[in-house]
Amino acid sequence: MYRPHPFSWVPAEGQRHATTDPKPRQGYDGVEVRTLCLKRVTVDNSDIGWLWPTCSSCNTGAHELAGVPAGGETEE
Ligand SMILES: [Zn+2]
Repeated sequence: MYRPHPFSWVPAEGQRHATTDPKPRQGYDGVEVRTLCLKRVTVDNSDIGWLWPTCSSCNTGAHELAGVPAGGETEE
């Protein structure tokens, strides 16, 4: 399966975090993962979870992994 970046976004504990853990066969729901902000969280893959705000630490880490600068385009 093609994965554009070596991480996935997962909703957990009121924020959307990014994780480099491999996706389980059944998906991430209810699975404990290690996030880019170095937390261990249990994924809540409910519909509302995807509406949660993005974790800023994970956002920064994800941009680094993807090789693009975090934000900044609309600043200045
Ligand atoms: Zn995070």
